[in-house]
Amino acid sequence: MEQTFIMIKPDGVQRGLIGDIISRFEKKGYYLKGMKFMNVDKSFAQQHYADLSAQPFFAKLVDYIISGPVVAMVWEGKDVVLTGRRIIGATRPWEAAPGTIRGDHAVEVSRNVIHGSDSVENGKKEIALWFPGGLAE
Ligand code: ATP
Ligand code: MG
Repeated sequence: MEQTFIMIKPDGVQRGLIGDIISRFEKKGYYLKGMKFMNVDKSFAQQHYADLSAQPFFAKLVDYIISGPVVAMVWEGKDVVLTGRRIIGATRPWEAAPGTIRGDHAVEVSRNVIHGSDSVENGKKEIALWFPGGLAE
């Protein structure tokens, strides 16, 4: 079954959005397969966002991700990668539809609450990076 990697970013944790976010994925009908609360260091954040290393905002993005604890999760279900991205909403919160997580909870692209894998292949890579010990059976 398809899986995706979802991370609640430090602003989402600090603002008390963990329950709301988990609830949206659960109510949709997806299954939580792994979850941990953790602090990541700079090199780990750089690895996670390696594809964006040439972007002018890369250093700021990494500083944001390491600014506090995050919640790393694996969710599973039919089309969960694409549908998960639709539940999250557009990258730029002002383009995110009301009813999406970013549409309801964010205004700044540099503090947009949550990450979701953008393809099945990247989902597999991110799950391997964040859950190197694998998932509970
Ligand atoms: P994510 O990978 O976090 O789920 P995304 O796939 O919607 O987000 P990406 O293009 O992968 O968008 O960008 C990764 C993250 O980089 C964005 O979620 C956002 O926090 C940050 N970001 C993107 N563009 C900008 C920008 N212009 N200024 C500051 N931060 C940005
Ligand atoms: Mg992305």
